[in-house]
Amino acid sequence: MNEVVKNNKFHITTFGCQMNLADSSTLVATLLTRGYQRVYEEKEADLIIFNTCSVREKAEERVFGRLWEVYKYKKEKPDLKIAVVGCMAQRLGEKLIEKVPHVDFVLGTDRLFELPEVARGNNGYHPVMTAFGHENMDAIKPVRENDFSGFVTISRGCDNYCTYCIVPYVRGRERAHSADSIVENVQRLADEGVVEIMLLGQNVNSYRWHDTDFPELLERVAAETDIRRIRYMTSHPKDLSNRLVDVMADNEKIMPHVHLPLQSGADRILERMGRKYTIEHYNKIVDYIRSRLDYVAVTTDLIVGFPSETEAEYEATLRAVSDIQFDSAFMFRYSVRPGTIAAEYDDDVPEADKIRRLNKLIDLQQKISFERNQRELGRVCYSLVEGFSRRSEEFSRARTEGNKIVLFKNGGAAPGTVVPVKITGADAFTLHGEIVEEVRC
Ligand code: SF4
Repeated sequence: MNEVVKNNKFHITTFGCQMNLADSSTLVATLLTRGYQRVYEEKEADLIIFNTCSVREKAEERVFGRLWEVYKYKKEKPDLKIAVVGCMAQRLGEKLIEKVPHVDFVLGTDRLFELPEVARGNNGYHPVMTAFGHENMDAIKPVRENDFSGFVTISRGCDNYCTYCIVPYVRGRERAHSADSIVENVQRLADEGVVEIMLLGQNVNSYRWHDTDFPELLERVAAETDIRRIRYMTSHPKDLSNRLVDVMADNEKIMPHVHLPLQSGADRILERMGRKYTIEHYNKIVDYIRSRLDYVAVTTDLIVGFPSETEAEYEATLRAVSDIQFDSAFMFRYSVRPGTIAAEYDDDVPEADKIRRLNKLIDLQQKISFERNQRELGRVCYSLVEGFSRRSEEFSRARTEGNKIVLFKNGGAAPGTVVPVKITGADAFTLHGEIVEEVRC
């Protein structure tokens, strides 16, 4: 039975990546089972939680802004507690309370699930906890994100130390969940009615539990569970094997979408980023993916203006983007993250050049995304209905196999159902379609 806790209303805001969303879902479930009650208005809460991101300076600035915004509630209600958890808590530790003294608890990436005890003021718990090596991997149980999809974390942390990235410092070394526990967790979610799961790790391709590697784990999840649709995120080009692609090709449950961060099209910059692959290697993987899968969406991440990037090297990125023809991309201009290896480099590309390079890259990718989406016209996409279109309840919003959003006239399709949608229109960001008769079982 759930415990009953006084002053038990909590509000949570999540910043950053899917890993943080997954952690927040688990934290919410942990709080609910410990007698807390979730509220959706900060002013109603007794405990306000920010699960934070340190990947970019802007993300941290937003959290600082929000922390000062909620100070007004603390002045009205002195018992209100404010907790900062996750990557920013890990990176800043005590310094966070020095900067924002009205913060009560700071729990790093290995410690955030201890928040119920810390917030209750249990003896033995300190309000600032950032030491690694305290998490109990088996105790971290995934929960549903909504009634029909869920995240299952397969590994935490990262060993790659890409020179621009703060993740290995704030999330620690890579450690895997056991293959059996992952299969069990997926089945548990399937039993609860979840249709689609996302297997999550900073680098899923380096997953290893005893003799089980990632392709084998995917095979097991597909074969041993009743889940209908499987996705995974994120891949690293140095570790993505042809065998993984073969497993995808042989298994309809695994959705044909590969998110494969390229970061730069210039080998010298890739080396300086510590990425450990060349553009030639990257191209070979994409060629193999496209040769083995009849339909696949390939998406990526790109950074422009990395220290010492010349115009010619930037042009190499534009060329790579034109050649590879990604379905979509997350594109950023480089910004220094203190504590990373690249923070020691001279950040010598002027801000104006970074902005110009980024804008041109975005223009190019938008044209390519538009063209890639035109190729979808006439296809029937089996799409998982997520709800209504943001603009109008006349239209439903669904996610295609290739992870694209499709809008179609709402014919009563319930969220959580998978419906065949024929694509009748497309822009760079969204597909449009209509429900058709089932064309395969
Ligand atoms: S693979 Fe590189 S970019 Fe990705 S989390 Fe690890 S260090 Fe960061």
